[in-house]
Amino acid sequence: DARQMDGYEALESIGSGSFGLIRKVRRKADGKILARKEIDYRKMSTKEKEQLVAEVNILKDLKHPNIVEFLERVIDRENSFIYILMEYCEGGDLAAVIRRHKEKSYVVQLTASVPIPEEFVWSIMTQLVLALHECHCGMIVNEDNQPAPRHILHRDLKPDNVFLDAKKNVKLGDFGLSRSLTNPQKAFAQTYVGELITDSLYDAKSDIWSLGCVVYEMCALEPPFLAETQNELSAKIKLGRIQMLPAQYSQELNMVVRAMLQVNPRRRPTTGELLSNSRIRYTSVQLK
Ligand code: ADP
Ligand code: MG
Repeated sequence: DARQMDGYEALESIGSGSFGLIRKVRRKADGKILARKEIDYRKMSTKEKEQLVAEVNILKDLKHPNIVEFLERVIDRENSFIYILMEYCEGGDLAAVIRRHKEKSYVVQLTASVPIPEEFVWSIMTQLVLALHECHCGMIVNEDNQPAPRHILHRDLKPDNVFLDAKKNVKLGDFGLSRSLTNPQKAFAQTYVGELITDSLYDAKSDIWSLGCVVYEMCALEPPFLAETQNELSAKIKLGRIQMLPAQYSQELNMVVRAMLQVNPRRRPTTGELLSNSRIRYTSVQLK
């Protein structure tokens, strides 16, 4: 059985990814609950497999309180599965949080909406900025034994890939694994961020754009740009017109979101610039 693996007891599945299941497992040694991503690599080309392995190796070194911790990669050659063991985030993902607020708003329609509190929005944003800052600017030691920034791009930042632990701490997850694999279903998923992504064009400022979209959606309970087709979407984005956030949100929050959603990538703030924003600087991030 492909599900069985030495040292771990397989529990229920908690999500279905585009490349297989995400399953809860119990580590027999200490009883700790972990999440296991189960990737069937039979249909992957050699190049895709190499890229998957390369990316997992990057993730191994990426340790940050706001990034899902990768623990182990196990290859089951007999069944053609790659298992990625990681920290389990029992708070689910941000997409579910947004969905719940949206449904509640619908139930109590006309009388009241149930917005996500602004404090919570700042807290999530701050933790995402910290996670992205580690990816974009975190220092590593290169082959020449010199300190160098890691320059990792997430490339797929969206509410479904922002996980929460039991204490509502943000854990950025699903690191570009998807990008290394070809899957037609992913092509439309990428339109969430709205940009036409080609490798050469994608840079740190594209992650900032996506962050702007995530924060906008937490407030408006829908993405900033809605369209039926990729062409319609690009046209809307190029217009550069962004609705104000719902009235209960502050001017300050509106301004940060707008800054991140500027059409010209050079004008968008870097993670460093965002961290010097006074509101972000004074947002306390509660961590265990
Ligand atoms: P995919 O590349 O298929 O999108 P993800 O890594 O985003 O895969 O996982 C799919 C879903 O499974 C997530 O949106 C989330 O709801 C759930 N999930 C993934 N990893 C974890 C985890 N470590 N802890 C809790 N839930 C997770
Ligand atoms: Mg995902």
